[in-house]
Amino acid sequence: MSLLTVGTVAFDSIETPYGKADRVVGGACTYISLAASYFTNDINLVSVVGDDFPDSELKYMKKRGINLDGLDIKEGEKSFFWAGKYHDNMNKRDTLATELNVLADFNPKLPASYKNSKYLMLGNLTPEIQMKVIKQMKKRPKLIVLDTMNFWMDIAMPALKKVIKKVDVLTINDEEARQLSGEYSLVKAAKVIHKMGPKYLIIKKGEHGALLFQGEKMFYAPALPLAEVFDPTGAGDTFAGGFIGYIAKTGNTSFENMKRAVIYGSAMASFCVEEFSIGKLKKLNARTINSRVKKFSSLVNFKLD
Ligand code: AMP
Repeated sequence: MSLLTVGTVAFDSIETPYGKADRVVGGACTYISLAASYFTNDINLVSVVGDDFPDSELKYMKKRGINLDGLDIKEGEKSFFWAGKYHDNMNKRDTLATELNVLADFNPKLPASYKNSKYLMLGNLTPEIQMKVIKQMKKRPKLIVLDTMNFWMDIAMPALKKVIKKVDVLTINDEEARQLSGEYSLVKAAKVIHKMGPKYLIIKKGEHGALLFQGEKMFYAPALPLAEVFDPTGAGDTFAGGFIGYIAKTGNTSFENMKRAVIYGSAMASFCVEEFSIGKLKKLNARTINSRVKKFSSLVNFKLD
C-alpha cells in the first residue's frame, strides 16, 4: 500500500575507523526509501536536491519503484551536505558540517497523486517541512511515523514538539529520548513522550538494538552482533524504512505486527552498516533479507523448561 517518504536526499562525507568516503550519496529519505523499496514498490518520495545530484542515482531509485514526482530539483543550487566522524566506539559520532543548501528554503508541494498515501514516513529534516507535508494530506494516513535528531531539538524544539503531537510513532535514539523528555530512564522518558502525542515510541540504541513502547507494553529487538561495522551512517533511517515498509506491505498496525516490523527494520539496518553509503542497500533481495531476519529470531529464541 502507498507510502509517502519525506526527508533529505543528500551528499555525505564520512570518516570511520575503517576509512573515509567523500561526498557519497546519503540523506535520510534516500536510506528510508531504498530500505522500504524491498517491501513495497508504491513509494512516493518528497525531497529537494540541487542540480549537483547524480542523475544515475535518481534513475536507480526510480528503478526500485520510488516515484520521484515529488522531488524538487533546484537548478544552480547545491544539495544538502552532511559530514561526520565516528569514534572508535561507533555509537558515537561528531557532526563536522551540516550545510542545508537547498533545504533552507524548501517549500514542499505534494503532487495530487501523493495526497492519499496510506502511510507517511516523515524522515529527518526541518520540523516545519514535516508539518507542511502532514497538512497537505487529503486524508489522515493510517500511520504517521516521524524520525528526527538532536540537531532539530537544539535549534527548533517548539516546532518539533508541534509536529510530534500529530504523529503515531516517533523514532529517536536514546540520547535524543533523554533530551526530548528530560528523563534519564528510558522507561520514564517513554511515558513523558507518550504524553506529547505519539502512541508508539521506538528508541534506537545503535549496536544495542531498539525498544518499542506502547503505554505499558514494551518490546526489545537486539541488533545483530557483526564482526565489522564499516559505516553506521543511515542505520537509523534504514531501520525506519524497513519498519514502515513492512507495515505498508502487511497493512497491519497492531502492536504484534509492529514487533515484526521492528525486527525487519533492525535486519535492514544491519545490512546498511556493512558498507559505506548505500552500497549494501543496493545489493539485497527478499532471500537475503529473510535469512537475516531468521538470524534475529534465533539470536533471542530460547526454551523455558
Ligand atoms: P542516521 O545515521 O540514520 O542518523 O542518518 C544519517 C543521514 O542523515 C545522513 O545520510 C545525512 O545526510 C542525513 N542527515 C544528517 N544530519 C541531518 C539533518 N540535520 N537533517 C536531515 N538529515 C540529516
